[in-house]
Amino acid sequence: MPRTLIQSRKLQLRAESLLPGGVDSPVRAFRAVGGEPPFVARAEGAYLWDVDGNRYLDMFGSWGPMILGHAFPPAVEAIRAAAGRSASFGASHAGEGDLAELVKQCFPSMERLRFTSSGTEACMSAVRLARGFTGRKFVVKFEGCYHGHSDAMLVKAGSGVATLGIPGSAGIPEETAMHTLALPFNDLGAVQAAFDAYPEQIACIIVEPVVGNAGTILPETGYLHGLRQLATKNGALLILDEVMTGFRLSLGGAQQVFGIKPDLTTMGKIIGGGLPCGAFGGRADVMEFLAPLGPVYQAGTLSGNPLAMAAGIATLEHLIAHQGEVYSGLERTSAAMADGVASLAQEAGIAITTTRVGSMFTWFFTDQPVKDFTTAATSDTAAFGRFHHAMMEAGVWLPPSQFEAMFISTAHGAAEVALLLEAARQAFVA
Ligand SMILES: *Cc1c(COP(=O)(O)O)cnc(C)c1O
Repeated sequence: MPRTLIQSRKLQLRAESLLPGGVDSPVRAFRAVGGEPPFVARAEGAYLWDVDGNRYLDMFGSWGPMILGHAFPPAVEAIRAAAGRSASFGASHAGEGDLAELVKQCFPSMERLRFTSSGTEACMSAVRLARGFTGRKFVVKFEGCYHGHSDAMLVKAGSGVATLGIPGSAGIPEETAMHTLALPFNDLGAVQAAFDAYPEQIACIIVEPVVGNAGTILPETGYLHGLRQLATKNGALLILDEVMTGFRLSLGGAQQVFGIKPDLTTMGKIIGGGLPCGAFGGRADVMEFLAPLGPVYQAGTLSGNPLAMAAGIATLEHLIAHQGEVYSGLERTSAAMADGVASLAQEAGIAITTTRVGSMFTWFFTDQPVKDFTTAATSDTAAFGRFHHAMMEAGVWLPPSQFEAMFISTAHGAAEVALLLEAARQAFVA
């Protein structure tokens, strides 16, 4: 029986009369894949339920944060208790230090950190700090990497932008964008050339150590170490944007997996356990350039919000206490899902390139190896759109763009692998 979306359709019509495109974040619209976005009524564990009562296996986990599954009881309890003590104080409280200690325990490179309310703010602030600390203007980023939607970072910025076919964004003065050098990922020669072209003018390199925002793209062997060396040699800071990879690829993120020590790290998503939260941090001498100690201004009315701290603490405490089973379980389930669908595609004669690190993976509808944004863009997005639609009909909600990563949770297990593979089998024969 096909799904009915009667209630969702009604809510969508109302939303479109109030919110541009009916959404508060463009990637939630189904423009890239076609079809109608269901409105979510609730979620628990690995599943979402829409307002018409349809159930979906959730393959995007709120775009990363829900690593322990939806409505994880200790997080729900911690948020409830914190809300009873007031949602916000606008003054210091113990929760900030409690979460900061847990973060630092997992990420020793973060000698000092500051909380924000989003990953966007974390990246924007880290770049400002790098410019303030070095006294330099230029920033190196990579095509397909997304570091939030601040003006300087919205240049060749991956999925949301790529999906809409906008090169960057209207409303950003050339004078702002001209100081952002967007280079191909996995190409150290391009970075060396940038340092040669702008000697002593590049403040920082900011990079997603594993790209998630153009679909999953892995760094080639030696690439991240190469970036580390080039930054050090040229007096620039290395910022690892671990908003997606932090606490997901391992407890210590990509920097632990690849053995890289950045000057600054940015975080978001998992750190807030589903509440709005980000953080940036790193070398103490750099971080102490921030106001009130130093000349770089950065602030936030709701930064370090008690509810966000409580949800983050509950999440990180569980990850730390159960790290062995959490990460081995995620690895096992992800491998079964990513490889299982890849072999079903192969049997059906459909060309797919699968990229995966831990519980982040993408099925690119291309026969080419994917190593940067250009090769990712060879994907047949229409074929992905049909696949997405068939999976939705079969009760599996994939991220609604070819250029996004799948994110699974500890609530995904053998039953969810079976459900996914059966849905994909049907999708590939249809
Ligand atoms: C999601 C994301 C951001 C932006 O975080 P928001 O909380 O959406 O502002 C920045 N960098 C990366 C790598 C991300 O995945």
